[in-house]
Amino acid sequence: MTHRRRRDYRYRYSPYRIPFRRPLAMPWGFWSERRGIIVTLEDENRRQGQGEIAPLPEFGSETYPAALEFCQNFPPRPRREDLDPIPDRLPCCQFAFASALLALESPSFLPPQNWPYSYLLPLDRDGLPVLENLPSFPVYKWKIGRREFETESAELPRILEKLPPNAQLRLDANGALTVTESQKWLALADRWRRIEFLEQPLAPSQLSEMRRLAQDFATPIALDESLSSGKMLERLFREDWPGLYVLKVALLGAPQRLAAWLQQIPDDKIIYSSALETEIGRRNALQWAAQWGGPKRALGFGVEAWLGAGESVPTNAD
Ligand SMILES: [Mg+2]
Repeated sequence: MTHRRRRDYRYRYSPYRIPFRRPLAMPWGFWSERRGIIVTLEDENRRQGQGEIAPLPEFGSETYPAALEFCQNFPPRPRREDLDPIPDRLPCCQFAFASALLALESPSFLPPQNWPYSYLLPLDRDGLPVLENLPSFPVYKWKIGRREFETESAELPRILEKLPPNAQLRLDANGALTVTESQKWLALADRWRRIEFLEQPLAPSQLSEMRRLAQDFATPIALDESLSSGKMLERLFREDWPGLYVLKVALLGAPQRLAAWLQQIPDDKIIYSSALETEIGRRNALQWAAQWGGPKRALGFGVEAWLGAGESVPTNAD
């Protein structure tokens, strides 16, 4: 019998606050800055790994203050077994600590350059997409549901015309549509055939209505806000959800548990997506995605337009 040497880690955390270059229109109002926490773990060989806590309580995660309190009370010299039993009410903390450990153990990870990304179209104050100087992407995303259907949908031909010829467009309503509006958008999408999917047309409480929409139209429905926790993913899978799953990996808790569910969902039904975290959290999420076989659909991480210039995070690691 071998005696495993006790492994201690060094731990530190750094809160950050980064203004977005442009406020982001969300269903709950304009969102102007990102607050989060970077956690760093270092092992006895001085290998380091960083993970990011990027809470989004509107999506069902813990709040920033709750995460901060957890970080403040976490032991500065944790042992391996301190890193696992992070409570389920702190999914972003679970993600960050597991990610820091993964980054420490596989420090050379870089996301493959040929992975496809989607580009989030910036909106102006009137909710109109800014289409000048568009970078070239295989997939673009437009946030809809800001104005009347007739006014808003009239923009669709203009947008599609400005995109590269083979590019697809994702429509993301953030739950802001009615059933009737969703049907109109889906009918339009079925006609244009360049709409990859309609994301979260209705509020999370209207799951059965979204199931019906998914059955009535060819354009798939992707759930985002509905997927507020690992438990919800499990439930949707068990209930045989017929559409796609948008995974904000940074919000869904312990990645190892998530992986067990992902094995049962076809890869092309998954869209890995950002929770508007910094470069560190993004690398964390992509490192997990790589572990799980890589993306089959464009990644929802094309969010450069939102983060401020410099994007530097005040951590004490390089
Ligand atoms: Mg979304």
